[in-house]
Amino acid sequence: MSQADPFLIVGGGLGGLSTALALGRKGQRVLLLEQTAELGAIGYGIQLGPNVFHMFDRLGVSDAVKAASEFPPAIVWFDAYSGREVTRIVTDASFHRRFGHPYIIIHRVDLHHVLLDACRALPNIDFAPSATVTGFEDHGDHVIALTADGRRFRGRVLIGADGLRSRIRTQLKGDREPRLIGWVAHRTVVPIAQAPAGIDTSMVTFWGGEGFHVIHYPLRQGSVLNIVAVFRTPTYAERGDVESYRAELLKTYAKAHPLMRSMIAMMDLERRWPIADRDPARGWSKGRVVLLGDAVHPTLQSLAQGACMAIEDAVCLADLIELADGDFAAAFTQYEAERFRRTSRVVYESRYLWKVYHAEGPRREATLAPFQDRPNDEMWRRMAWIYDGYAPPMSLDRSGHTAR
Ligand SMILES: Cc1cc2nc3c(=O)[nH]c(=O)nc-3n(C[C@H](O)[C@H](O)[C@H](O)COP(=O)(O)OP(=O)(O)OC[C@H]3O[C@@H](n4cnc5c(N)ncnc54)[C@H](O)[C@@H]3O)c2cc1C
Repeated sequence: MSQADPFLIVGGGLGGLSTALALGRKGQRVLLLEQTAELGAIGYGIQLGPNVFHMFDRLGVSDAVKAASEFPPAIVWFDAYSGREVTRIVTDASFHRRFGHPYIIIHRVDLHHVLLDACRALPNIDFAPSATVTGFEDHGDHVIALTADGRRFRGRVLIGADGLRSRIRTQLKGDREPRLIGWVAHRTVVPIAQAPAGIDTSMVTFWGGEGFHVIHYPLRQGSVLNIVAVFRTPTYAERGDVESYRAELLKTYAKAHPLMRSMIAMMDLERRWPIADRDPARGWSKGRVVLLGDAVHPTLQSLAQGACMAIEDAVCLADLIELADGDFAAAFTQYEAERFRRTSRVVYESRYLWKVYHAEGPRREATLAPFQDRPNDEMWRRMAWIYDGYAPPMSLDRSGHTAR
């Protein structure tokens, strides 16, 4: 086991924890700095495509993740007004056979705990909770992470996995806020017994309308229903109160199907998430500092792949660090080259699909019609570039020309 300075990871989300585990399993010392007092304490549901299991296999957690997961038979898209089915992607046993792994839905807290337990089982991974990192110093042969309460943590490398509003990114790239698109999400988990009669609670269900949608799916052995309401609003950047949010939702979903409106009535409006992404941009590292996950390529949720991409980044980066044997510049250059095209395509296709899902006015019928005639094989074929998975590199390219 390495006795050198630890690898510092800033952020204990799904990307940061996966990176800690990937490096820890290779015998590297890791110190993970997280701003909250308790890692993974809150959360809602998350969908994960079969591609992420290639990474979970590498991290040794596939069985534990599956034990905490639901396996929906399909992802179904309904028109928000008529309630008619637009299309579906079958995700049953035949999907599992085609892609080699299942499509899952899981409570984020449960997924966090699988990763945390695996990290805690390794003596070379340490955690610093309640450590809000405000910046870093790169001294050439080591880095220092600086925290809001004046602490200084020394490491070999600093990995910024601090999410959408990454401070590490701001210092590294000097760029601005993410691109807020003027939409927000509200999330709720309710006992399944409270689900409106008439909805199928076994599937991932998407109801799309003009300027809004709702997604729902079961979690925890079907005991609870996860509901996400997403819509455009001029108040997206404001901190409103619950009653004004309630009035806004009632107005936004006024023409939606009655089943959608009954789910809207159940929403917990205490917290909202402004929806944002960033234009893909090169320059993921500088010196001994490198970015990962939402800190570097945040995406709209249309493909439900943001966390999957962060976890793929984690395994790729850890493999290259091991192959590079101290040549971090070579590892980081190849990591960006490896991951740039795939993560950028997720960002751009998600933007395109966002428009499709919420098509308005005369365009709506014409946009949705081709989906209605699309056979399932065709749906699978179009998703294969993501769901077939990603294979991290087996060797290090020291030439600096590693685009793929
Ligand atoms: C409504 C919604 C639904 C989504 N659904 C899906 C889905 O179904 N499937 C999917 O794959 N993805 C989904 N995503 C995207 C997914 O949540 C993100 O892509 C993923 O969480 C990114 O992981 P991350 O580790 O990079 O960042 P984060 O999960 O944001 O983690 C960042 C961590 O860093 C910590 N942190 C931040 N700043 C600091 C600091 N200065 N110092 C120390 N710690 C800090 C934070 O507390 C946090 O723990 C969804 C996103 C939203 C908003």
